[in-house]
Amino acid sequence: MTLVFTVILAGLSCTPINITIVHTTDMHGWYYGHRHDASEDADIADLYSLITLMKAKQTEHNIVLAIDSGDLIDGTGFSELTRPKGRFVFDVMAKMPFDAMSIGNHELQNAESMTYMADSFVTAMSGRYLAGQTVHKSPSKSMGAPYRLVSLPNTQGRLLIIGFVLNMQSASTEVTQQTVETFLNDARLNPIWKDPTIKAIICPCHFGTNDGLVTTIKNKIRGHFPSTPVVFLCGHTHVTGVDTPDDNSISQQAGFYFHNLGIVSFQLDVSASKTSNSLSNSRFEQIETIHTSSFSGPNSQSFTHDLWNSPEAVSIRDFVNLKVQSLGLNTQIGCSPRTWILPKYGPKGTNEDRVFAMHLLRIRDDLKKGPVFVDDLYTIDMYNFAIYLFANITGSDLNALLISDSSMANTDDDGSTEWFMENGQLFHLGGSNIRTNRAKNGKFKDDHNVGKVTPTEGKIYDLFVDSNIAGIVQNKLNKIAPGKYSWKATGTTFRPIFRKYIEEEMKC
Ligand SMILES: [Zn+2]
Repeated sequence: MTLVFTVILAGLSCTPINITIVHTTDMHGWYYGHRHDASEDADIADLYSLITLMKAKQTEHNIVLAIDSGDLIDGTGFSELTRPKGRFVFDVMAKMPFDAMSIGNHELQNAESMTYMADSFVTAMSGRYLAGQTVHKSPSKSMGAPYRLVSLPNTQGRLLIIGFVLNMQSASTEVTQQTVETFLNDARLNPIWKDPTIKAIICPCHFGTNDGLVTTIKNKIRGHFPSTPVVFLCGHTHVTGVDTPDDNSISQQAGFYFHNLGIVSFQLDVSASKTSNSLSNSRFEQIETIHTSSFSGPNSQSFTHDLWNSPEAVSIRDFVNLKVQSLGLNTQIGCSPRTWILPKYGPKGTNEDRVFAMHLLRIRDDLKKGPVFVDDLYTIDMYNFAIYLFANITGSDLNALLISDSSMANTDDDGSTEWFMENGQLFHLGGSNIRTNRAKNGKFKDDHNVGKVTPTEGKIYDLFVDSNIAGIVQNKLNKIAPGKYSWKATGTTFRPIFRKYIEEEMKC
C-alpha cells in the first residue's frame, strides 16, 4: 500500500499544486449571521462546515487553507457584553479550523481583550495566531507568532504565512507595537529570508489592498524571493477588491461583517526554484455567505445537508445561540418604520474632514426596517462614544457651522442629511442615517434635516456632538467665533439615547 502510494506521488511530483484559500476579515463578532436579511443568514457554524468540508476534499494536489485578517471583536453584543471584553468572540474563534489569523487594530485597542488573548486565546491557537509586530511586555506572554510555516505534501516545500497589522499610533499598554518596517527587519524573521523550501508566501494583512504597506512588504520579500508567489489577504478598510502588486503576487480583500468570503486560488509549481516560480491561474472570487444545504463553492464542490450539519458545527451553533439567549441579544425593543442605509465606505479623499470619516468611526451599520433587537444597538453603534455639549450657540453661529460643515454630515438613502433635534437642541449624529429628529413638542417629525432646518437668527441653541467630532466642531467654531465656545462633557453616551429613541419612537 505504501509502495503504491509512493509510486503514484513520484509520478505526479511535477504536477502543480492547487492552493485554495478561504479568506475572511473584519468579522467584528458577526457570528450569529444577519437577523434582518434572509439572503445572508449564514452563521459561524456554516463557515465551520464550509472550511471543514473543503478541507475534507483535499488531495496532494489540492490544498485548502482558511485565513482571517483580523478585527474579530467590536461590533456586536458578543464583544461589548462579555468579560473580559470579547471573550466569547475569541472562545468561538478558537474552535474554528483556521490555519492562520492576523491581529487587527480593534484587538490592539483594548487592554482587557489583550490580556485575555495572551492568557487564553493565543495559546489555544497554538502557533496559528500571527502577531509578530505585537510584543507583550511580559516575557512569559505571547500575543502570537511572527510567522507560520505549513509543509506541502510529500516534502515538496513549505508555505510561509506571515501576519501584519497597520502601523498603530497607539496600542494597548500591555504591548510594544512594532511598525511593519521594523518588523520586516526584525531578527526573528532572519531564518525565513534564506529558506529554500519556501514555495509561496501568504500575508494576512490588516490594512487595505491599496495601502503603501503592501508595496513595502512586497519589496522586502522580493529582495530575498525575486519571483516566489505572494498572496496578500487584506482587511481593515471594509472595501472589497483585488490587485496585482507584481507579476507573481496578488492582493485581495474579502468582505466584512460576515457579508462575503473571499476565495483565492492559484497553482503552485513546486519544482520551480525561488527565482523562477510563477503564480499561475490565480483567481479571486467573492461568495455570499448564504446559509445553505447545497453550497456550491469553488471547483463546483457541493455538500449535502447531512455533511453540513456535523456534530461539531451544531455544537458551535448551540454555543452561539445560547450566548445570544443569555445576553438577551434577540430581545426586541421596537420596530423601525423604514430602512436607513449606511452608505458604502468609499475611497479616501484629500480632505481630512470628509464625510466617510464619520461613518467609519461612528455609526457602523444600517438600521433595517422591521423589528429592532438589542443586538442592533451594538451593530449600529459600536463605540458608544461620549456626547459633548457646545452650549449657548447663537442661531447665526450655528448656521455658519452647518454651512461650513456639510463634510461632517452624510446622506441617507433619500439623499437627505440627518440631524437629531429635540426640545430645541440639535444633535449631530456624526454620520447617522437614523432619522431621529423630534420637534419641540417631543413628537417625532419625519422630515427635518439640515437642508430644510435653518437655525433661527437670534435664538440660542445647545449643540451636542459625539466625542469623535468634538475637536472638529471646536476648530470650526473657533474660526466662526474665536474664543466664544468650548465643549463640555455631558456624562451621556449615545447608545442609551439611541435605545430610548427606538423604544419610544419606534413602537411596534
Ligand atoms: Zn481594522
